[in-house]
Amino acid sequence: MAGFAEMDVDTIWQNGEYVDWDDATTHVLTHGLHYGTGVFEGVRAYDTGEGTAVFRWEEHLDRFFESTKPYDMEIPYSREELTEATMEVIRRNDLDSAYVRPIAYYGYHQLGVSPGDCPTDVAIAAWPWGTYLGDEALENGIKAMVSSWRKHSSSQIPTNAKTTGLYVNSLLAGEEARRNGYKEAIVLNKEGNVAEGPGENIFLVRDGEIFTPGLSESILDGITRNTVIELARERGYTVHDNVSISRGELNTADELFFTGSAAEVTPIRQVDNVEIGNGSRGPITEELQTAFFDLVERRTDDHEEWFTYV
Ligand code: PMP
Repeated sequence: MAGFAEMDVDTIWQNGEYVDWDDATTHVLTHGLHYGTGVFEGVRAYDTGEGTAVFRWEEHLDRFFESTKPYDMEIPYSREELTEATMEVIRRNDLDSAYVRPIAYYGYHQLGVSPGDCPTDVAIAAWPWGTYLGDEALENGIKAMVSSWRKHSSSQIPTNAKTTGLYVNSLLAGEEARRNGYKEAIVLNKEGNVAEGPGENIFLVRDGEIFTPGLSESILDGITRNTVIELARERGYTVHDNVSISRGELNTADELFFTGSAAEVTPIRQVDNVEIGNGSRGPITEELQTAFFDLVERRTDDHEEWFTYV
């Protein structure tokens, strides 16, 4: 993956100001750095026929504000200010398509675990980011490994909040998978049922119907998950989005795929040593993946309400 130093990007919005990329820094005694007390979003802006558009910005903004709630964190900017900052960051960096990263975290003041009077610092960056799991992955699918690490239970930490500290679990699971020759992990929840990927939701296809773990399975309420459910229902598929999926059901699935703002719609062709279906991208996965890219790159007029043009 290309490093930031190799990218042609020069502006980040930080606490109300547009600052030079290299100056968008924080103190080493920042609360969020020590305790993982931040919330963030991962959003994509796509190059459409009519300019760059941010996909489902309003829903990402909703989740950004909702993620702060368990931490009693107050983002000192309005939705309008964050929206304007995001669009302007994309414009100033001259990006046709982009990955957008808003973050809010407890900042620099003192280091008791209680954040006390620590300010909430907020930043928004945008940069070019190609296919998350590789171009080849979209077409041929990936090999995934069921991680030996379990996902934190929503009784231990709110898993529906996109909190920075949660991602050490994602790192452990993902790196374990990669060390073992797989592209990505599948993480089970505390009960041993399928939860999600380290940064993706997961879908299963069986006998022409679509299944995805319910929100009570300790997953993030993914915006791409929601998008794909809607696209599938519009195409007449039955989608079961409130179910538990056992580990064994992964092996007998006809098709499996991941969804996420970064991962988009990525087929899974193998889980551990078991080939899924015929070991390549399945037909329903392909149909939904095509529908997704036709949507976000605006080869259709559907769901215009999901796009905020830069
Ligand atoms: N689960 C986790 C743990 C994630 O980090 C992500 C990425 N935000 C997702 C699911 C997918 O969510 P979304 O489609 O909103 O990007």
